Amino acid sequence: MKYQHRFIDGTAAGLPLGKVVCVGRNYADHAAELNNPIPTVPMLFIKPATSVVPMAEPFAIPVGQGRVHFETEMSVLIGRRLSKASEAEAAQAIAGIGLALDLTLRDVQDELKRQGHPWEKAKGFDGACPLSDFVMPDRVSSLQDVQIRLRVNGETRQDGNSRFMLNPVLALLSYISQYFTLEPGDVVLTGTPAGVGPIESGDQLEVELVGLLQVTSAVL
Ligand code: ZN
Repeated sequence: MKYQHRFIDGTAAGLPLGKVVCVGRNYADHAAELNNPIPTVPMLFIKPATSVVPMAEPFAIPVGQGRVHFETEMSVLIGRRLSKASEAEAAQAIAGIGLALDLTLRDVQDELKRQGHPWEKAKGFDGACPLSDFVMPDRVSSLQDVQIRLRVNGETRQDGNSRFMLNPVLALLSYISQYFTLEPGDVVLTGTPAGVGPIESGDQLEVELVGLLQVTSAVL
């Protein structure tokens, strides 16, 4: 089924699917596990709308291109245009909070990094961004106290909390909007905690924003 922005009660969000703006290394423990330095300013990249698929349905991953890594992230659905916005304006623009998998062709990315090239082929391929449905923002008592969890085949692989983000959500949205106008229907991925690793065909996934949202899925 084609992806559409929806809330967890099944109602359509009424927003078109736009771009997905992502931040690299927004948790110190994840930067460390890949031997990357901690950036002094947010490191941004974009996944195109064509990379988005529904997380709740089994999804395909690329074959023959090396390791495909999962990165489990809290996602933010944008409901109002944000350009050079303040944090207060950013807070008003959040239409929903959800889950995303920032799928990454890690071997391709390592090679692109080595050559000093952009990451698009490793991050923006078709299917690179499974997204869940969203909860309304008023369900989330604190954006900076959300537990993000991934189990692969029943084993906990990622279990982090948004309080450890280097750039909190509102600061991140404001920063992004200094460079890229965020349009209604765009999605922001807020970075992954530690524990990233490979997924393979047949893996069963349980992805969770604890107390808010749970999705089961599988790799085709
Ligand atoms: Zn990521």
